[in-house]
Amino acid sequence: MELKEVYKVSRVNEALEILETYKENAKVLAGGTDLVIEIKERKLKKEVLVDLSSVEELKFIREDSEFIEIGAGTTFTEISNNEILIQKVKGLSHAAKSVGSPQIRNRGTVGGNICNGSPAADTVPPLLALGATCLIKSKNSYREVNLRDIYLGKGQVDLKDNEILYSVKFKTPLSNQYVGFSKLGLRNALAIARISCAIFIEVDEDDYCKDIRIGSGAISTTPNREFELEKVLIGRKVDESFMEKACSFFEIIVKERLKGRSSMEFKKEAIKGIFKEALNNALKDRK
Ligand SMILES: Cc1cc2nc3c(=O)[nH]c(=O)nc-3n(C[C@H](O)[C@H](O)[C@H](O)COP(=O)(O)OP(=O)(O)OC[C@H]3O[C@@H](n4cnc5c(N)ncnc54)[C@H](O)[C@@H]3O)c2cc1C
Repeated sequence: MELKEVYKVSRVNEALEILETYKENAKVLAGGTDLVIEIKERKLKKEVLVDLSSVEELKFIREDSEFIEIGAGTTFTEISNNEILIQKVKGLSHAAKSVGSPQIRNRGTVGGNICNGSPAADTVPPLLALGATCLIKSKNSYREVNLRDIYLGKGQVDLKDNEILYSVKFKTPLSNQYVGFSKLGLRNALAIARISCAIFIEVDEDDYCKDIRIGSGAISTTPNREFELEKVLIGRKVDESFMEKACSFFEIIVKERLKGRSSMEFKKEAIKGIFKEALNNALKDRK
């Protein structure tokens, strides 16, 4: 099957109409930083491309009294420069800033980062830690799903042929809730994360962990929410023993998930440093 037609649309509805018509024969393109490589390597088996890169409706970051919502077409640069995110969701702007090179950050979108289904997508761990939901649209329907439920397997996401990701949404962290991110890449800028971690944490006045949510990248076939680890940490005092408990538990998780893989030995050690750094980054601004 060869690519025959490219539709450069300017409205979401136009895109959805085309997807409804061509269904499994069509594919959407956002920044193209993943997809253009696939096309060049002739791996894309589709007849129709729906180019969303000029759809202004998909490029926004807005905040209401409770939520922050980011349009799927928002680029990494826009995320990393956004004042609301810099002030209130540092871990997410940090993750966006750590992506690739300036060229990739200027083109690559958060929607593409989620929908390519990569276990190592940088903005996904912070969004998982924020408990984000995905708003998904088709011509005749609309649904909201937890980001953590969208990943079905490596490179596979729960999106139908006639659907697009419209936006991603999460509760605005309160002033006593912090989000930190850390990643270890092959090289600092031009590599997709080899291992990453993001932490959302709420600490009370006596330094006890009231709430924690942890997102991880590149330690299994999908990005993950680390529910088991969260359960172990909630209610503990955030001190050296908290770090030790978290690190030894995370090491066990990585050993189990990557059993038999050559990267296991390296990643079971690396996750400890990454966890510590993400937590320190989260708590840096605590007054
Ligand atoms: C040199 C280089 C360095 C990179 N470094 C990093 C890095 O450090 N960290 C990192 O996370 N990534 C990195 N990437 C990967 C890539 O840039 C990101 O995954 C980026 O977010 C993809 O977004 P895009 O808008 O370019 O997606 P596209 O390439 O346009 O699309 C990617 C996939 O998502 C689908 N898609 C896109 N938007 C939507 C939507 N709204 N609804 C439904 N499906 C959609 C497409 O159909 C396609 O399957 C790198 C890539 C390159 C080439």
